[in-house]
Amino acid sequence: MPVKLQFVHAMHEAENVESFYFIAQPKFAFTAGQYLMCDLPHADVDERGTERAFTVASAPSEPLLRLTTRFSQQSSSFKKALRELAPGSVIEADGPFGNFVYNDDGRPAVFIAGGIGITPFRSMLGDLESLGHRRSITLLYSNSTPDIAFRGFFDDLAAYWPEMRAVYTITRASSEWQGTRARIDAHLIREHVADAHAATFYVCGPSPMVAGIRTTLAELGVDPGRVVFETFPGYEVREHNAAAIDR
Ligand SMILES: Cc1cc2nc3c(=O)[nH]c(=O)nc-3n(C[C@H](O)[C@H](O)[C@H](O)COP(=O)(O)OP(=O)(O)OC[C@H]3O[C@@H](n4cnc5c(N)ncnc54)[C@H](O)[C@@H]3O)c2cc1C
Repeated sequence: MPVKLQFVHAMHEAENVESFYFIAQPKFAFTAGQYLMCDLPHADVDERGTERAFTVASAPSEPLLRLTTRFSQQSSSFKKALRELAPGSVIEADGPFGNFVYNDDGRPAVFIAGGIGITPFRSMLGDLESLGHRRSITLLYSNSTPDIAFRGFFDDLAAYWPEMRAVYTITRASSEWQGTRARIDAHLIREHVADAHAATFYVCGPSPMVAGIRTTLAELGVDPGRVVFETFPGYEVREHNAAAIDR
């Protein structure tokens, strides 16, 4: 379904992560975890073009639609144009699309997010909270630095949602970071998921991270039918300056 998104304002979420808030015209129904294809015509378009998929990071109950994205040191022309949007400007989108949605199957759920792969979980957890469906959910969320997008939101939920736990792990921690310092691996999953065979796993993040977690879960003996995943492509580093870009 075609929809117009009228830009309202942007908000800094964390280092290199921004949210963009829109009024959807017409307002449309979506399921938490779904995404939109956004078209942003702009000058000097690079080879990646004018269209991007973005998961809706807000819950369906929230009045403004929030898209949250990560910026790299050398952004695409699309991301530069997104950053320059003026309040009131309108972009075209299509959707909602996708099956990466929470299915209340009665099992404990484990949400595994790599970096900006957190966006569908932000929407799902906001949705479950607004509906009062406080299911057993463990969020394992990996970031490169301790400046973690949506951390305040998840910590607030966990404070009064007894069966929701948020575990943050940092791959490039400074000495002040007191928490876990590792990529999400079999050891970390075993440590925080009491019975992996009883759980349903939801995995989202950049392509290599999702592939790695699926392999790890298979090695742990998790039935692939209980691993739901979404891959965010496009975060591959430009070859000529790969070493210079902080991922
Ligand atoms: C279903 C789905 C949902 C998604 N949801 C989200 C979401 O919620 N949030 C989100 O951020 N992303 C999401 N994505 C990914 C998103 O669509 C983009 O692919 C991603 O943000 C990368 O954007 P970009 O191409 O503008 O690159 P950038 O983010 O600007 O850059 C990423 C990397 O590519 C390099 N690069 C940029 N431009 C070029 C170029 N022209 N040539 C070579 N290298 C280049 C950069 O230097 C950097 O290393 C989703 C994707 C899918 C399929």
